[in-house]
Amino acid sequence: MGLTIQKLFSVISVTSVAKIALPLSILLCLLLYPLAMPNKTEKPNDELRTKLTPEQFHVTQEKGTEPAFTGKYWNHHAAGMYRCVVCGAELFTSDAKFDSGCGWPSFSAAADDKVVATQTDTSYGMARDEIICHKCGAHLGHVFPDGPQPTGLRYCVNSASLDFEPKNEQK
Ligand SMILES: [Zn+2]
Repeated sequence: MGLTIQKLFSVISVTSVAKIALPLSILLCLLLYPLAMPNKTEKPNDELRTKLTPEQFHVTQEKGTEPAFTGKYWNHHAAGMYRCVVCGAELFTSDAKFDSGCGWPSFSAAADDKVVATQTDTSYGMARDEIICHKCGAHLGHVFPDGPQPTGLRYCVNSASLDFEPKNEQK
């Protein structure tokens, strides 16, 4: 009988500890969660959302594609530098721009190989070489092997990822 009461007491104490420990640990988790998971990824995005237009944000941050023949620069022929709309890196010069007829700004070469990186993009069931800004990682467009010589490349870029700087305004 004495043993049964002792057992009963130990069960009660374990249950009451569990009753306190569970809410405590939940409370602790809630308190520690904001510290353990800082809003590292969301904050720059929030800033970018105010800096960029919705289309610029969609193209550069969500790998979007503007509809053909709708962008600012597909039929743009002024001399100057096309910079990354997000970080300002010099991406393409007007010298390398050519009329590909595809409805997007097309370049046969990047201004500097170091500022443009390519990586394979398999979205939409196609294997395409995606072009990204090497400095900030913004999505720019895709590169295809059907461009003019000497490079044979066509950098097909979204106007929404570019910011044009006319030649006479260049530093
Ligand atoms: Zn950039």
